[in-house]
Amino acid sequence: MRPNFIVVFFLHNSIVRWSLFTVSLIVLGVPARATDYAGPLFDAHLHYNTEAWNGHAGPHPLADVLARMQRSGVKAVVANSRPNDGTRALAEARTATHAAGVSVVPFVRLYRNRADYDSWFRDETIYEMVQAELARGTPAGPYRGIGEFHLYDSANANGSVAQKLMTLAEEKQLVVLAHVDDTAIDLLMASTPSKGQKAQLIWAHTGIGGAPVQRVEALLAKYPGLMGELSYRPGLTCDNAQLCPEWRTLILKYPERFLIGSDTWVNQRWLYYEETMKDYRNWLGDLPAHVAKKVAWDNGAALFGVK
Ligand SMILES: [Zn+2]
Repeated sequence: MRPNFIVVFFLHNSIVRWSLFTVSLIVLGVPARATDYAGPLFDAHLHYNTEAWNGHAGPHPLADVLARMQRSGVKAVVANSRPNDGTRALAEARTATHAAGVSVVPFVRLYRNRADYDSWFRDETIYEMVQAELARGTPAGPYRGIGEFHLYDSANANGSVAQKLMTLAEEKQLVVLAHVDDTAIDLLMASTPSKGQKAQLIWAHTGIGGAPVQRVEALLAKYPGLMGELSYRPGLTCDNAQLCPEWRTLILKYPERFLIGSDTWVNQRWLYYEETMKDYRNWLGDLPAHVAKKVAWDNGAALFGVK
């Protein structure tokens, strides 16, 4: 063999090997790194609480929070706040929200102050406040839901005001945003006239208290209007910040039942708003494109009729 021939032979051989290697990767379905989801986001769990900005002071005035949404590709938000003034501020800023390309879906929150977290479920003045707010409406249209509320003891789902609010929500077709455990989901649903068959409830953090995936799945099957919001859900993501296998399977089984949210419950969450949304885009990018779009945008847009 002449030297030139040897070089050509090895070159040829390596090209063939490389081609075979590439072909076998494709055949085996070894994925290339998925690209991040790049479409619109619906933030289904946003707070604009008094410490963020109370109309006079605070680190995150309207222009700041709207810029964060715009930079993150968030095109719609479920807005609620303690007290409801923050939601009203977002709803009133029609020119600014329109310019930022953000639709505001207002919810009535049950908290005038922090003390209300622990007693709203039996406090008649909260029920009166909710009714007054609903009657008042907002410049962005009528309130579309109630919450976020918390139940640190699931038995308080049987509180007189909690039961009345669940009935009111179903009768007025308001969506409920609830930070509760799986036991409370059953109790809240039992309080509605349809026993949960017509109730629309967004489960904030989808069982943050530790409900196993199988229990979440059973509740989704039981209540057709139950949806899972995925912020702060322990065990949702695994290696490389991608969905854990059992969550991926559940989301693929119920692609129309999940939503994402920022949960800006403290100012630090505003500081990291863009990072939070980037993390969602990362694992959404690993889902089939049509499923990613449902969870990211379509499910929230369909629930509230946002275009
Ligand atoms: Zn929250």
